[in-house]
Amino acid sequence: MSEQKTKYDIIIIGAGPAGYTAGIYCSRARHNTLLISGILFEANSVIVCTGANPRKIGLNGERTFAGKGVSYCATCDGAFFKNQELIVVGGGDSAMEEATFLTKFASIVHIVHRRDKFRASKIMQERALSNEKIKVHFNCTVEDIQGDQKFQKVILKNVKTDEKITLEAGGLFVAIGHEPNSKILDGQVELDENNYVVLKNNTETNIPGVFCAGDVHDHRYRQAVTAAGFGCMAAIDADKYLAEQK
Ligand code: NAP
Repeated sequence: MSEQKTKYDIIIIGAGPAGYTAGIYCSRARHNTLLISGILFEANSVIVCTGANPRKIGLNGERTFAGKGVSYCATCDGAFFKNQELIVVGGGDSAMEEATFLTKFASIVHIVHRRDKFRASKIMQERALSNEKIKVHFNCTVEDIQGDQKFQKVILKNVKTDEKITLEAGGLFVAIGHEPNSKILDGQVELDENNYVVLKNNTETNIPGVFCAGDVHDHRYRQAVTAAGFGCMAAIDADKYLAEQK
């Protein structure tokens, strides 16, 4: 049997908000478009929308109570926790930003960090540390995440003293960074030091005809709606690129 090949105008890699939005706009521009989340085949243009995943602590309770008190996005879920105590894990800018944001809703926000120094920039640290609703637990690792129908508490271990501490709270926000899904691009599309795609001009990458949208390049906003916006932009840019090629 002979192999059948279809040549597309545009292939979109990734099926999140950026990918779907790019798909809608490419189809509206009447391009023969394929949206995939797997292996690539041939096309005149590609839009990379492979997203990013939040890093996980890696405990069973984290999986069990994800969406039931364990969250990876303060902007998305913070408002569900009015007047409750909350825990944020992490010591980078994200942890500072999430903790500060959560003080709008929470009674107290506990920041739990595994070392005795934050990785976050000075200004972000100062903003968090000067907030009277924020309490910091340095040198503490999360040993267990427990609950019943929903999340109830974490067991912390002080790595200097081995002391175990139980911290009860309404919610646990894990803010220990993100991993962009850019491995398949390594060595081809230019990535920054944290493996996010570098955009050159609007949604263009360093390779002509390869565009990018969403969290795989955007470590700042990381919202479904901003990813969708970038998806629309990348589709328009790919459409212009194809028109220019013709
Ligand atoms: P990050 O800088 O990589 O910090 C991750 C933090 O989580 C570190 O403090 C790290 O601890 C801790 N961590 C990592 N794995 C852990 C684990 N398994 N268990 C417990 N703790 C763990 O990530 P980020 O804070 O998301 O920031 C990513 C980038 O975005 C940075 O360049 C940052 O400046 C930028 N950003 C900027 C802003 C802003 O300017 N408004 C806001 C958010 C993010 P260690 O310190 O011990 O390694």
